[in-house]
Amino acid sequence: MEKITGGCLCGSVRYEANAKPLMTRACWCRVCQYFASGNAAVNAVFPAEAVTISGDVKDFESIADSGNLMHRKFCPTCGVHLFSMAEVRPHILIVRAGTLDNQKDVKIDALIWTSSAPNWVYLDPNIPQFEKQAPPPPLAPTN
Ligand SMILES: [Zn+2]
Ligand SMILES: [Zn+2]
Repeated sequence: MEKITGGCLCGSVRYEANAKPLMTRACWCRVCQYFASGNAAVNAVFPAEAVTISGDVKDFESIADSGNLMHRKFCPTCGVHLFSMAEVRPHILIVRAGTLDNQKDVKIDALIWTSSAPNWVYLDPNIPQFEKQAPPPPLAPTN
């Protein structure tokens, strides 16, 4: 398959993936709304081993609404958020879909944390919705 590529706004961080995302979800958790300027963050979930990253990212650690310790990685030059990863699931890399070179083809499989969404939001009834965390993607044995 053709590689999936992307990067930050200033171009200092680039990545490529040699596998398709396992799933893509729009996350309305309160934390994602900070990163996504008030909207949901659109998160493409990749097997971590499929993604190669070049350039330096800064890592901001925080506890998510799910209770997981999360690493949120962003470009220190332009401030764009590119990746996040739950400490308990290092085999999964979440890529912020807005950083994909070809973001037009993104298809959202689920809306999650809809209970935290602002009142103006239209939630597409054709997309599966979860008031809080959805189950982790079907992948990888052990933890
Ligand atoms: Zn940048
Ligand atoms: Zn979120």
